[in-house]
Amino acid sequence: MCSMPSPQPSSRSFIPYKDLCVDESLMLWKGRLGFRQYIPSKRHRFGIKFFVLCDVVTVYVQDMVIYTGATTSIKSVEGLGVSGSVVMTLLAPHLGKGHVLYVDNWHSSPMLFLDLLHQGTGACGTVRLNRRGMPTFPKKMKRGEVTFRENGTQLAVKWQDKRDVNFLTTVHPSAMAQSGRLDHFTGEPKVKPACVLDYNKKMGAVDRADMITSFVDCARKSTKWYKKLFFHLLDTAVLNAYTVHRKLSEERMPYKDFRLKLVKELIQEHPLPRRSTGLRLTGRHFPSFVPPTEAQGQSTRRHCRVCLYTTRRKRERKLTRYMCSSCDTALCPAPCFEEFHTLKNY
Ligand SMILES: [Zn+2]
Ligand SMILES: [Zn+2]
Repeated sequence: MCSMPSPQPSSRSFIPYKDLCVDESLMLWKGRLGFRQYIPSKRHRFGIKFFVLCDVVTVYVQDMVIYTGATTSIKSVEGLGVSGSVVMTLLAPHLGKGHVLYVDNWHSSPMLFLDLLHQGTGACGTVRLNRRGMPTFPKKMKRGEVTFRENGTQLAVKWQDKRDVNFLTTVHPSAMAQSGRLDHFTGEPKVKPACVLDYNKKMGAVDRADMITSFVDCARKSTKWYKKLFFHLLDTAVLNAYTVHRKLSEERMPYKDFRLKLVKELIQEHPLPRRSTGLRLTGRHFPSFVPPTEAQGQSTRRHCRVCLYTTRRKRERKLTRYMCSSCDTALCPAPCFEEFHTLKNY
């Protein structure tokens, strides 16, 4: 599922609709880690940051990249920097198909949007006015006032709402549209630039996916960041499976129930091997050497089971070179080997 270096299996099992979005997602991690990130706007403020490519309609996660700063595993595109290259890397399998991408101002720039446009992909997003290639706007504008700047391929918009907001788009007209709400004072329908309305509607997909997972995620308190990362990826894969299941079946199943059913079916298909405890006291048993592992070689040792679990003396972790191979159990040659095979409760 992670972007490099393997092909993206998530992208093969689901073909996204027209609208895509790239947004950041944070996995909570308070411990030490070189590439830990801080996002003030997210609920989990410290953690490992992902860039996520998401289908807007279904919130299916197409792909994701872990952000590790300058070493982020992406294909660097000249002139676009890390923020633009992230987008190009995630979007690579979807270019030239008429998709429209929604991104925030960390990514968007006239350079990136032009690149995308040349590759048959529209884009819309908030933008910083100091990006190279951005037109100039009047400094002071009145509340509700809007200025459009067009250059034939791209439309830049400055709109004075409570704060001034700046947008760049290659797919919207220089027009206002009704937001569906009425102004408190005048009773007139509220209007906003068309691109702003669309962006607000479509940009939240990654947050929506995060929220669905946050109520049921399988991350337990883990002391290792990479274990937590594994479960985070597992959660994402399960949510994707749910999205596909919902598309393919008529059944409306709550996400929690889906997960439970999935767990049950997986356990049925892969049951734990049963230990043949019945033969421990009756069968024929002979000591043999613990087979060598690569790390320990000929002197490979394992913990004696009787010493570890005995109820008759103080338990201890004792290493032994001997085992009973028919019980697949490591045992001290004496007295544990005999005790294990003769006492019901050793
Ligand atoms: Zn045995
Ligand atoms: Zn022992």
